Amino acid sequence: MTKQIPVRNPRTGETDYEITAMDAARIAAEADRLRAGQRAWAAWPVQRRIAVLREFRDAVARRRDDLIRVLVTDTGRLQVSVLEVDAVLAGIDRASRFAEETFAPADLSPTGDPTVRTTGDLVAYPLVAAISPWNFPFQLALIDVVPALLAGSAVMLKPSEMTPRFIPTLRECVAEAAGLADVFTVVEGDGATGAAMIDAADAVCFTGSVPTGRAVARAAAERFIPAFLELGGKDPAVVTASADLDSAASALLWGSTINSGHACMSIERVYVDHRVADAFVETLVAKAERVRLAHPEPADGQIGPIITGAQVTTIREHLDDAVAKGATIRTGGSIEVLDGGCYLRPTVVTGVDHSMRLMREETFGPIIPVMTFDGEDEAVALANDTEFGLSAAVFAGTAEEAMAIGHRIDAGGVSVNDVCLTGMVPEAEKNSFKMSGLGASRMGPPSVRRFLRRRALLVRETAGPRPWYYDAATTETEER
Ligand code: NAD
Repeated sequence: MTKQIPVRNPRTGETDYEITAMDAARIAAEADRLRAGQRAWAAWPVQRRIAVLREFRDAVARRRDDLIRVLVTDTGRLQVSVLEVDAVLAGIDRASRFAEETFAPADLSPTGDPTVRTTGDLVAYPLVAAISPWNFPFQLALIDVVPALLAGSAVMLKPSEMTPRFIPTLRECVAEAAGLADVFTVVEGDGATGAAMIDAADAVCFTGSVPTGRAVARAAAERFIPAFLELGGKDPAVVTASADLDSAASALLWGSTINSGHACMSIERVYVDHRVADAFVETLVAKAERVRLAHPEPADGQIGPIITGAQVTTIREHLDDAVAKGATIRTGGSIEVLDGGCYLRPTVVTGVDHSMRLMREETFGPIIPVMTFDGEDEAVALANDTEFGLSAAVFAGTAEEAMAIGHRIDAGGVSVNDVCLTGMVPEAEKNSFKMSGLGASRMGPPSVRRFLRRRALLVRETAGPRPWYYDAATTETEER
């Protein structure tokens, strides 16, 4: 029996769309079809795959306005929807460069044994399952898909069931790139669909929450397939007394509230030197109060609606818990329901500590809790007092001072005198630390390389001593 999944519109709160989940039998059949197509795809020179991905990019570019329109309907925000589509276009060119470098021809190299030289080839995982979240629906749907395809894998993608309206347009783009539909399919569905995909795939790329990531990792371990996990965060920022407070406040306001705070790498905790804390908070609050809601029209302001109903509950609970434990809301703080959509203005909270859910769990809302520190050691200890390790930011008077602190933070990407650079500058290789993820970097050249296994060819070239029991010489000796 087919399963229909209703989809909520975040600007109206109404359910006005639905998708049909693909069942396990169809996923298994689709996996067989993709694996068959992958054999020829992987055998092509990388330049031919790049040419197909360029056709796909051109199709996405032609449908840029359509894609932005459906993303706005699913997410309620405009500026970030534009950024998402443009990031995908740029990402195809960048990954193509990485792919060319990855497949550069290699000569036979010497080994420790002078009679043996070695080379090898790169063998793509035949079928990659890519499972993505709702917060950057389009960009995160394709972030792993493009490098996997360039590596020579086939891909089955399942975007989040919360934000699936771009799927029909994406399918049109796939159909317009010759041969791409043989190795890339986009399926609709929910968690059960995702679980069935893992059962059918040879590797999985998962972007989402820690609890689901754990289920994905278990399922992948059962099948001995690699799981590349990109999970949640509770990113800290440290602001020292020497920092340019005005610039730090602007950056942190943006980094905490962009996409309504629905970003894995959004800043969710700010630690500021106690000597400059009052001045910093005053500047931050003044700037926060100038930010506008994107209402009544998506183009009207910066902060769109909270995208999912579940997130409204989490945000409210974290704020209530903080206030109950003594925190002070300096600006924002109440969820406003406008025309059925739920909005929260940039919210600055002081008087926070690590007993509060707001400082420990991922909130995923436009909230900036600010806590003071006394000395660099305390700043580092507070920043590291978390189960997450996705990214972080440090602001100081000089890059050297900030980097000295950055080197001590347990996170996979540290922005110095800015925020969220790991998302904006995808060339920098990085790993997710602690509970924020697992596996090789999705940024930089490993974004392609991680879909390839290396097969070594070791060539015995000249006669010489060998560890064999029976060669011509020993046999002769034994016979005499
Ligand atoms: P989620 O874990 O609820 O769902 C993510 C995806 O997993 C969805 O497509 C869902 O249908 C699917 N899914 C659910 N159960 C599954 C199962 N058992 N097997 C396979 N697939 C299953 O996450 P979400 O709420 O959509 O996204 C928000 C989370 O994603 C946040 O925690 C955020 O920090 C994280 N995130 C991380 C990154 C990163 O790069 N590290 C980027 C964006 C978002």
